[in-house]
Amino acid sequence: MKIAIIGAGFGGMAAAYDLRRLGHDVTILESADYVGGLASGFKEPHWNWSVEKFYHHWFQSDKWMLGLIRELGWMDKVRFPRPYTVLLHKGRWYPFDSILKALLFPGLGFGLNKVRFGFVGLFLRLTNNWKALERHTANEWMIRWAGRHVYEKMWRPLLIGKFGPYYQDVNMAWMWARLKARSTRLGTFEGGFQSFADLFAQRLRDMGVDLRLGAGVQSIRRQADGRLIVESADRNGTPVYDQVLVTTSPALLAKLCPELPETYLKGLLDLRSMGAVVMVLSLKHQLSTQGYYWFNLPKEAGYPFLALVEHTNFIPPEEFGGDHIVYAGDYLEAGHEYFALTDEQLVERFTPSFKKINPAFEQDWVKKVRVFRTNYAQPVPLVNHSKNIPPIQTPIEGLYFASMSQVYPWDRGTNFAVEIGRRAATLMHQAV
Ligand SMILES: Cc1cc2nc3c(=O)[nH]c(=O)nc-3n(C[C@H](O)[C@H](O)[C@H](O)COP(=O)(O)OP(=O)(O)OC[C@H]3O[C@@H](n4cnc5c(N)ncnc54)[C@H](O)[C@@H]3O)c2cc1C
Repeated sequence: MKIAIIGAGFGGMAAAYDLRRLGHDVTILESADYVGGLASGFKEPHWNWSVEKFYHHWFQSDKWMLGLIRELGWMDKVRFPRPYTVLLHKGRWYPFDSILKALLFPGLGFGLNKVRFGFVGLFLRLTNNWKALERHTANEWMIRWAGRHVYEKMWRPLLIGKFGPYYQDVNMAWMWARLKARSTRLGTFEGGFQSFADLFAQRLRDMGVDLRLGAGVQSIRRQADGRLIVESADRNGTPVYDQVLVTTSPALLAKLCPELPETYLKGLLDLRSMGAVVMVLSLKHQLSTQGYYWFNLPKEAGYPFLALVEHTNFIPPEEFGGDHIVYAGDYLEAGHEYFALTDEQLVERFTPSFKKINPAFEQDWVKKVRVFRTNYAQPVPLVNHSKNIPPIQTPIEGLYFASMSQVYPWDRGTNFAVEIGRRAATLMHQAV
């Protein structure tokens, strides 16, 4: 079979790996001039490691991602340090990344609230019945079972941060998935995620996959014999394929293939998602001298972004030529003003709040700033969302779709990109 995969993110590359091993003739068409998609990174000349454009790490429970790395023989390159995640209470930061730390967190009090918090957490870790949970909003379910105090202190800031105007509409299965599939230790790949993506791309090329960069796809059409024509910026070879797997956003699939039936197109376009704006700063000095990695910032605490992540409190600054790498990022609706502000204007908005983390911070600590923006960062799962998930096999024979929006009930992540990519590959092979 002659197969085209659109997108060289983790999902597209995982699908290519399986399809090529099954003997298919696989071409990957990638619009960017690098592989790795949303998990890609960049590197300054004096760094040993790359830094992800959007902060990334793995959990120990990421069995699909780690399973793939094991198969590829690179487990010796996986690192699982133990960084610190902290939460704000009355102006102080408290570690909050294990059951014990959560139980000691003063923000929840030490009476009934903490008991309810504990029971709800335990229930969510133990149950697998996410279908029952998706019938409720997280907002309503948490107020009812965890209580208003715990909800307002813990879960509402998380929902507001991630989903902004949709925070009261997100279903409880999302929260379940988040608590179910996470670990305290956080993992990465030696050299950064981009190192993994580059090694993987090289392995695919060595196996005979034709991986073309700068090959943005413009349209997918059916020809009379049912095969699929893929028009792209790349003019090498005949663009006719027996099967095509698209790994981009639902909105882009709808644009690329307007021949899809109207109901399917509507389903794609009705799916909601949040974008993200992430600033990556190289600083001269360490920002969190306590060595904290991840700061959860409730919006009401007045920070102009959701998450502050000091990457070099996870991977030492020696790997970055002594630079201290800090991310400041937020999930935002497309059209939010942060998408339109210049990088300089964003620096003016973001950096004054660094003084709250470290009063010694001065603007001249900033050596370099990069800002990354994406419209498609976080799918928004509404009540009874399982009914809205487009199947991997589209109504057009030979055309398949595997994206972040379909890994539900799990939350998006490279682990689930690998899972859905490999699931799509199996379906495509079985259809032969
Ligand atoms: C802010 C943020 C933080 C995240 N944190 C984590 C984390 O900590 N851990 C984790 O595991 N995951 C994290 N993720 C999620 C993770 O990045 C994604 O789940 C994963 O990378 C999705 O992979 P994918 O292959 O499905 O899609 P993508 O990575 O989006 O790949 C799709 C590819 O298609 C290409 N493409 C688009 N249009 C075209 C076209 N017309 N023609 C050809 N190619 C095209 C794109 O360039 C891209 O390379 C995060 C994401 C964001 C935004």
